[in-house]
Amino acid sequence: MSESTLGTALTGATETDTVSAGRSLSALPGTDWDGPEWARARRYRRVRMATGAASLAISVARDAWLAFGGRSAGLKRATDRRAPHPALRDAGFVTSLSAAEWVSGLPVGFALGHLVERAFGLTRQTPGGWFRERAKGFALGTVIQLPLTLGVFATVRRRPDDWWLILASGALPLTVVATYVGPVLIAPRFNAYVPVDEDELASRIKVLAGRAGVPISAVYRMDMSRQTEKANAYFTGIGATKRIVLADTLMDRFAPDEVEAVVAHEFGHQVHGDIWRFTAITAAAGFVVAYGVRATMGRLLPMTAARTGVDSPGDVASLPLWSLVGLGHAAVLGPAFAAYSRAIERRADRFAIGLTGDGPAYARAMLRLAHQNMSDPSPPGWLVRALATHPPVAERVAAALADDRVPSPGATDGAGTATAGNGSLS
Ligand SMILES: [Zn+2]
Repeated sequence: MSESTLGTALTGATETDTVSAGRSLSALPGTDWDGPEWARARRYRRVRMATGAASLAISVARDAWLAFGGRSAGLKRATDRRAPHPALRDAGFVTSLSAAEWVSGLPVGFALGHLVERAFGLTRQTPGGWFRERAKGFALGTVIQLPLTLGVFATVRRRPDDWWLILASGALPLTVVATYVGPVLIAPRFNAYVPVDEDELASRIKVLAGRAGVPISAVYRMDMSRQTEKANAYFTGIGATKRIVLADTLMDRFAPDEVEAVVAHEFGHQVHGDIWRFTAITAAAGFVVAYGVRATMGRLLPMTAARTGVDSPGDVASLPLWSLVGLGHAAVLGPAFAAYSRAIERRADRFAIGLTGDGPAYARAMLRLAHQNMSDPSPPGWLVRALATHPPVAERVAAALADDRVPSPGATDGAGTATAGNGSLS
């Protein structure tokens, strides 16, 4: 595609602009990835890389400081003495340790999660609002994690040889439950969800869902702008309760055909069963990591017992050591996981463009997402290979524009019934 047609495809969407009158659409940036339009996104990526690296370094240093030098064992003795009942000793230690870790992580968390986001105009949340949400998250996390952690250590003590097999097997149903419980029970505690089935956009999305072969029961609007200016859409529920959630930041600032492009991508994940694939891969990785952690702990504990004061993996005082070993395993598996995720994302992109038949709208949606989420459209290759779960936006835009399937008639004309009667696509 020549430079001028590319420009027209990306910015000449006059019909879309007419339809979206009343929606606050900002001008789209161009595709000069090294140009000044993307300078802020590049700076944001660098700042996040630096703060992310600092945050990782701090947690490694903190866990090492706690583990070596017998500090974790010392904290365990102190909490044991204060426990009102011997059965509450482990719970007292685990709660104290996670509270200490939470407090010590607050400064960097505040810098990374709030100050940086504010500086780049990505959130309107107040510091107090940010802190209240963190506190609520910590309280909820403790309620969920404490029994799990105690269960893990009880299993390690009772089944010293095959605990890794038992825990990895038990993690599978938990992962499945968490996939559904999170959005249904936890998310409403942080945001408001309103059904928008009467909305014209919602009826377009339902038509699209019918063509994708993904039945949905409802379309919800979520007040994501409370936390962030970033945009998102996702599915929750199973079977007859399956619903799609659109962030207000997406609904209000994207043209209808761009919202359709984003939603069509999510339909791609549904049609390909990507959630189940991820669950299966996570479960498989769980067995590998559990076995690896057991082998590493088995060697590490006798070597370090003199300095840590802990010689059994079933002793909760070994928690900081567990964190370090777990982090090591994540660092090894992370890039493989990210590569698999990028492959899945590329396939969902191709599916979405096939479904809407509108590559230019897809490219515009990607540009707008990158602009609004302040993603660097073309980060360095090593960073993509190491961490990125999605292909770079530059690549996704180029692929969408190179897709030479004929755009469906009316797909961009914005009328509520535009997507009906599209026999050429399946
Ligand atoms: Zn995706």
